[in-house]
Amino acid sequence: MTSTVGMEQLYQQVILDHAKNARGAGLRQPYDAESHQVNPTCGDEITLRVRLAGGAVEDVSYDALGCSISQAAASVLTELVVGRPLVDTHAVYKAYLAMLQSKGADAGDESVLGDGVAFAGVSRYAARVKCALLPWAAYRDALLRADHTSTTEGRS
Ligand code: ZN
Repeated sequence: MTSTVGMEQLYQQVILDHAKNARGAGLRQPYDAESHQVNPTCGDEITLRVRLAGGAVEDVSYDALGCSISQAAASVLTELVVGRPLVDTHAVYKAYLAMLQSKGADAGDESVLGDGVAFAGVSRYAARVKCALLPWAAYRDALLRADHTSTTEGRS
């Protein structure tokens, strides 16, 4: 059994590692839609692009500025959604949101959330929850915009 303190230290390491070595960082072409989101309470900003193909996420690219939590959350999001069907990513988001709104009660399911479970402790700090959710807000907004684009241009 790992102690709670040990887990928290491990989770902090996971978050710092994602913040330092952000997966999929940088804005890339081509993309279907882009979203810019700001978290004024912490000063985090993100521009995130999605590239979709055949009902799946082909690529997510982003430029994130701000605290380690928001930057790590963007990196983890990339790991969790790229190459996955859109419906799966909605399920991942629901599980991630439930964990972050649980005020520490929901430790998260690692088989669904992967490194995302490292943000379980963040759910006890209301102000930090917004940091962890910011990239997901951008992702979901970009999907809505992409859907608009595909309705007007037709699906291939
Ligand atoms: Zn932040």
